[in-house]
Amino acid sequence: MSAINALVDSEMDGLISDLQTLIRQPSVSAKKQGLMECANLVAQIMRKAGINSEVLYLDDKTVAPAVYGEVKSKSNPGRTILFYNHYDVQPEEPLELWESEPFSGKVEGNYVFGRGSADDKGELITRIKAVEYFLKKTGDVPCNVKFMVEGEEEVGSVHIDQYLTRYKEKLKCDGVIWEFGYVDAKDRPIISLGMKGLLYVELIAKGPARDAHSSLAVLIENPAWRLVYALSTMRDSDGKVLIKDWYKEVRPFTDQELSVIGSEPFDEQEFKQEYGVDRFVAGAKGTDAKKALVGMPTCNIAGFNSGYIGEGAKTVLPSQAMVKIDFRLVPDMVPEKQLERLKSHLKEHGFSDIEVKLIHGEAAARTAINDPFVKQVEQAAKETFGSAITSVSSAGTGPMYSFVKVLHAPCISIGSTYMFARIHSPNEFAKIDLLNKTTKCIGRIMEKFSSG
Ligand SMILES: [Zn+2]
Repeated sequence: MSAINALVDSEMDGLISDLQTLIRQPSVSAKKQGLMECANLVAQIMRKAGINSEVLYLDDKTVAPAVYGEVKSKSNPGRTILFYNHYDVQPEEPLELWESEPFSGKVEGNYVFGRGSADDKGELITRIKAVEYFLKKTGDVPCNVKFMVEGEEEVGSVHIDQYLTRYKEKLKCDGVIWEFGYVDAKDRPIISLGMKGLLYVELIAKGPARDAHSSLAVLIENPAWRLVYALSTMRDSDGKVLIKDWYKEVRPFTDQELSVIGSEPFDEQEFKQEYGVDRFVAGAKGTDAKKALVGMPTCNIAGFNSGYIGEGAKTVLPSQAMVKIDFRLVPDMVPEKQLERLKSHLKEHGFSDIEVKLIHGEAAARTAINDPFVKQVEQAAKETFGSAITSVSSAGTGPMYSFVKVLHAPCISIGSTYMFARIHSPNEFAKIDLLNKTTKCIGRIMEKFSSG
């Protein structure tokens, strides 16, 4: 039990009302709406909690500010934990599907509704409150605490690397708690130790100078076909990427990782039903399916655009075709290197006319499963929730590599977000019982972490 447990229970109303205050300040990074206001509000809530706080900027003042917070421990100044969060949210649209006003923070039973209630204002508030309750209860915190709260997570954390680099000394720490964490339907928190990387490109094929009558397809090559031919050389029907040396730097799973993957719960039938599919890529089953989720690179067509896509027929030979591809990367693949391999592949296969446009590149990160920080978080989660699930990596992408590269600290994701909390969708919610338990869990993590 954490020293703050009783306070978490008796002060729940204060936690909810601070969360409502945050939700009621719209902060949509995609529209650059309310970002400065929300950053100031976060700093203010931190100060009220007893956390020293300041708003950070880059030289380019059009970049969303970040919020820094800090409390030094009197009893244990040798260990520092950093909470990474974000105050920005996804756009609230489509409005007509919301059952209450998106920025109302409406409370109903066990739920707090509103954009950002879970992602990520709910997560942020559990961490601020854990610190506040330690200060209130003991006049101290078990270890040094730092906060890095950015305002561009929902638009790809485009400047996080610059922030970390510029404020590297300030942000120095021994461990990072990631911005989000899921709790499954059986109330088990999922402790995730990594994130995949991403290489996002557009391939553009050019045909005739302008759209042509499709009768000319006998003579003029169609750029959409060109892209289809090029794409078919890049991946086989089992999902394997056929680009030379694509897997060269892929770090194999350790035995310990394999055993964790093997024991992770995964209901194949439920998953297939949820997505309406009856088979996985390459017919993967059991442990292979789980291994793919946490550690397999992909070549995914995210969008394909060419020719006429309106109603009815138009016999046209388009002048251009474009495909968007996202390649998920895993440790230790280097996005820049993979991009070069893709370009060479196209050249070697006779597609040097296809233009490759880089949209985004980001490396993967994975915290070593035998890092002592992992045990501490696992124990804290099991003590608080009764049980917990450890996952070697999330299947998704986030800027974890920047933290590992700049701060050299292990990163672990754990939080309060119910798996089906409709984040990024209408009627997003946070569950009050999970906010309560997670605040206690964060407290317990700090206590365990302080011992080294
Ligand atoms: Zn989000």
